[in-house]
Amino acid sequence: MKILPISNIPIKLKQKVIGYIGKTVLGTVTHVVTDKPIISLTFDDGPDPYWTPQYLQVLKKYNALATFFVVGSYVNKYKNIVEDIYNSGHSICNHSWNHRSFPGISREECRQEVLACEKEIAPFTSYKIFRPPFGEMNWSTRIELKKLGYTVVTANRHAYDWENKETKWMADLLISRTQSGDIILMHDILFDRRDCSRSNSLNALKIFLENSSKQFRFVTIPTLLQSGKPVLVNWNRESNSMRDDANKLGNTGTINTV
Ligand SMILES: [Zn+2]
Repeated sequence: MKILPISNIPIKLKQKVIGYIGKTVLGTVTHVVTDKPIISLTFDDGPDPYWTPQYLQVLKKYNALATFFVVGSYVNKYKNIVEDIYNSGHSICNHSWNHRSFPGISREECRQEVLACEKEIAPFTSYKIFRPPFGEMNWSTRIELKKLGYTVVTANRHAYDWENKETKWMADLLISRTQSGDIILMHDILFDRRDCSRSNSLNALKIFLENSSKQFRFVTIPTLLQSGKPVLVNWNRESNSMRDDANKLGNTGTINTV
């Protein structure tokens, strides 16, 4: 059989093969397809001794389980808060040691960021589930995470609570768009603005749960992944495109189509 040199393979075919590998072998989970009325809430960048307990209280009030993508260096500082998250039945997953943008650092540094957080959260989790800081990831990062045995999970619904959005705006967005199988991204603290109030985010969560907790059951990411067919995408983002998405939505109550 004659094998064509790579340079002779049509570009469209090469793109198809790369796209297929990106979506399957190195695919990122954004949500699941399921006929069950279940949703996963996820909270990034914690723990924080002031705000995280308040999120836990709200979740408890509505019997909602969630997943906390924690930053290892803060787990080290506030281990008692992580214990509280764990004892409340929520899942704890890896969001790196120090929240650096992975496309900007070497593969070895990526490995160290993941492994240092893994070590810190080991007493609280057996799952190898990772969410990239800032949602930024390139091929090199994805290969490294695959080698470390990680499932990468981002989200398909955003409250945009890292932007200066109003409570009602965020709550309306979540209520109007959320569907079964969705993964919602929120923050119990912002990594690079730790003095930024979480009141609007917290109140939006309360309104959303008050409105939706009879319609949906809120489960952890590991439970969600086992309860439906994970949707995998080819996730390559070297800049903060989610910030661009938020800007497209405007700064006040009006919700436009993304
Ligand atoms: Zn983050």
